[in-house]
Amino acid sequence: MKLYQGIGASLGVAIGKVFIVDRNRVSVSRHTITDDEAAQEIARFKRAVATSKDQLEDIRKKLSFDIGEEHGYILDSHLMILDDKMLINGTIEIIRGQMVNAEYALKEVVNRFMNIFNGMGDSYLRERKSDIEHVGERIQRNLSGKGIDSLSNIPEESIVVAHDLAPSDTFQMRKDRVLAFVTDIGSNTSHTAIMARSLELPSVVGLEDISLGVKNGDPIIVDGNLGVVVVNPDQDTFLEYLERQRKYKYFEKELIKISRLPAVTLDGHEVHLAANIEIPEEMDTVIGHGAKGVGLFRTEFLFLNRNELPTEEEHFMACKRIAEKMDPYHVVVRTFDLGGDKIPVPMPIKDEVNPALGLRAIRFSLTRMEIFKTQVRGILRASAYGNLKLMYPMISGVAEIRAANAVVREAMEELRREKLPFNENIEIGIMVEIPSAAITADVLARECDFFSVGTNDLIQYSLAIDRTNEHVAYLYEPLHPAVIRLLKMIVEAAHRQGIPVAMCGEMAGEAKYSLVLIGLGFDELSMSPFSIPRMKKVIRQSELKEAMELAENAMNFSTAEESRDYVISFMANRFPEDITREGKLMY
Ligand code: PEP
Ligand code: MG
Repeated sequence: MKLYQGIGASLGVAIGKVFIVDRNRVSVSRHTITDDEAAQEIARFKRAVATSKDQLEDIRKKLSFDIGEEHGYILDSHLMILDDKMLINGTIEIIRGQMVNAEYALKEVVNRFMNIFNGMGDSYLRERKSDIEHVGERIQRNLSGKGIDSLSNIPEESIVVAHDLAPSDTFQMRKDRVLAFVTDIGSNTSHTAIMARSLELPSVVGLEDISLGVKNGDPIIVDGNLGVVVVNPDQDTFLEYLERQRKYKYFEKELIKISRLPAVTLDGHEVHLAANIEIPEEMDTVIGHGAKGVGLFRTEFLFLNRNELPTEEEHFMACKRIAEKMDPYHVVVRTFDLGGDKIPVPMPIKDEVNPALGLRAIRFSLTRMEIFKTQVRGILRASAYGNLKLMYPMISGVAEIRAANAVVREAMEELRREKLPFNENIEIGIMVEIPSAAITADVLARECDFFSVGTNDLIQYSLAIDRTNEHVAYLYEPLHPAVIRLLKMIVEAAHRQGIPVAMCGEMAGEAKYSLVLIGLGFDELSMSPFSIPRMKKVIRQSELKEAMELAENAMNFSTAEESRDYVISFMANRFPEDITREGKLMY
């Protein structure tokens, strides 16, 4: 028996047999060509691109039919890469300039893209890197004449094990034969993960070398809830997972009912549960999981897969679409949080020694007013079509709110003159994610309509832990006494001023922290849509009174370890059906 721990990317428990999908790279060598051959090489490259396009369009058509238009965007992004000038013209230029074969020229161009993406900490952006890699490999396979293996003849009850899977691989698999996916690489936001979730198949990613340690036909268990994979399980383990699978299937049925119920405690306290989104296409999932609003729309993702900034019209259309879908519930649109770990390719941001403390988010927007105003105008115009709110990221003090508000006032004035409709009373809030903002929350609360606490950054800055550095990840402790104190200060300052306070960092979506956060007084928790029903289940079994007591007691410890042990063991005892002793979800 061999146990692997990875990242649980899609929930559920599957028991089946290994089916290895070998996506080894095509090896590429360099050879020089003559003047006459250059034209042939370019024609061969263009044919391979055209074949790749046909193949993807074919899969795209089938996809819209099989699992819904909503997911077509993943393939659209691959089709867009096939039209990318940097990729196509870049390859042709190298063929001509260096007089080399098409395979080598393409590899050079793909490597250039890889270098740009390598420095980025954000997992979503790293995923765009894998899109380009997948498209590059497809063209290489077509150039080599090897073609793409069909995955339609997978045996029944297969659990697919691969180094990595392209979305086009996943789309071709027969859902009646594949029980789960596991991959060596990938993250929670990888396409394998997104696809597995939309197909509702369990998935564990980031297993490092599992594809080298298994054989076709090996018995295998995948627990997407705990991120665990067991190969060749012994009898006891097998029975244990059979029981976990039974529990999860039962829970899945309950889930549908729970999604429609309110997040109300046993003593009648309602907690507002909202969703965090990155692209408008996520809205069906948001609604399907019972969100009462979008607590964070990370607009910087409008940059992805493109070389230029979004226009006002694009901002307007994206926000309008989300606002209309979510109406009457609110949608909090955060203005660009660029820089730091989220630098998209087209932005002219210079290298910084310490980007997390550099020209990012609202600081960047306030130095590039034209970019900021374009976005603000788009958002304001969309506010005429639903319950939109505006939010500034990384506010460190009052001066930044005032400067940003001045741009909003200017944009409003312009729209009035142009007779374009918008909500004159749009609420404007701030992310509280920098310690200086937390400490001066009382002053900031007088200058805005709401707070949303970004714990991902607040923890990073208050504990001085780079959120993208795995070597210090063990110090990243949401229940550190310093963090809990800051959270309490923020909530109290907001409520004294009579404004609501939400949390939209990852901490808000973890059931094990739910009671502490409710006890501290958060009015809204905004999270990944998938966490919402799980959170509701725990909240509906709780009382506000005990949550307040738990939060009060959690304040009394002097080390992070003590407060974590206290809270997690309380939650595991209180919800033995839902939360494990390690603080993970049971289902
Ligand atoms: C946060 O910092 O907690 C947050 C929600 O913002 P982001 O993760 O986009 O930085
Ligand atoms: Mg942040």
